[in-house]
Amino acid sequence: MTPLLTVNGITKRFGADQPPVVNAVSFEVYSGEIFALLGPSGCGKTTTLRLIAGFEKADAGTITVAGRVFANGQVHVPPEVRGIGFVFQDFALFPHKNVLDNVAFGLRKMRKKTRRARAMEVLEMVGLADFHARLPHHLSGGEQQRVALARSIVARPRLLLLDEPFSSLDPGLRQATREEVRALLKSEGISAVLVTHSQEEALSFAERLAVMKIGTVEQIGTPVEVYRQPKTAYVADFLGQTNFIRVHVKDGVAETRFGHIRVGALCQRATSTNEVILSIRPECLTMKASCDAKGGRIVGRAFKGNYFIYQVEVEGEIYAVQTDYGCPSQIGDSVVLEAVSAVPVADA
Ligand code: ATP
Repeated sequence: MTPLLTVNGITKRFGADQPPVVNAVSFEVYSGEIFALLGPSGCGKTTTLRLIAGFEKADAGTITVAGRVFANGQVHVPPEVRGIGFVFQDFALFPHKNVLDNVAFGLRKMRKKTRRARAMEVLEMVGLADFHARLPHHLSGGEQQRVALARSIVARPRLLLLDEPFSSLDPGLRQATREEVRALLKSEGISAVLVTHSQEEALSFAERLAVMKIGTVEQIGTPVEVYRQPKTAYVADFLGQTNFIRVHVKDGVAETRFGHIRVGALCQRATSTNEVILSIRPECLTMKASCDAKGGRIVGRAFKGNYFIYQVEVEGEIYAVQTDYGCPSQIGDSVVLEAVSAVPVADA
């Protein structure tokens, strides 16, 4: 399958004596696919998005959309002719224009009648046709977000770029709006790149994602792949809580304080001493009551609604263990831990 968007080795510095904030970043987005750039604040996500939109010029690398080169060493196609939609974090609506005019703004080159008809069609799509005459400040945050979305897709972009579009919404509204936006993108077949620092958002919204670390891409995969098969300790840690242990491997089996774990591909990452780092998610450790003084001891417990996270001390180290909400164990109890599965990771 040919990708819709190809980003190949793009690099951007803000100042010749500064390190690159985007450093040889490469990824592809396929037609109709929802892709996410996930990473901590300042790792270069927004700059990558702005390079794709054409708001920034790349120092090196190539950006191609549907086979057309938008940026390389010689070419820089201006943003207004790229046919790419952009949803900003703060929505960027015109406060003095009503909802319809805000949305129709995306169609400036069309005749007025056609423009209004198309804008109303998209407002219907996002469930806001009845609000077409309102000013933005007479709408809730979620409604404003939908107006911003309507404006960004009214000109039928082949690619939509979303820069932290849900971050200013409160948690309940954020999830509902996210699901609505996702359903709309899928039903309209619009490819999208979402920028977010929320792992939960990236995992639930995107079909594939790139995990970024200080200007570079650390790993690309489906949400399940990057969560369950992180290649590095950094990705494992960024994607959710995990326990790291350094262990020895013999014949594909890791000897751990939580039992022997068969780890297959693990050996490939083993050093000459056969020592590797394993990432064990809290839900991959089981906990049983024990009278063995050499086992572990519960030193903390956090209620998370439908599950608990326990802190268990074993030989001076603290491990996080997830149990279901019915678990009766209390702080101070002696327990033994057993690992159900573990993933070998490269050092952070
Ligand atoms: P956040 O999640 O906080 O928005 P981000 O991952 O999107 O962060 P960017 O906004 O791309 O990160 O910024 C990456 C780095 O580039 C930061 O250190 C930022 O200060 C710097 N930067 C961004 N834009 C400019 C600019 N126009 N001039 C100078 N430095 C900039």
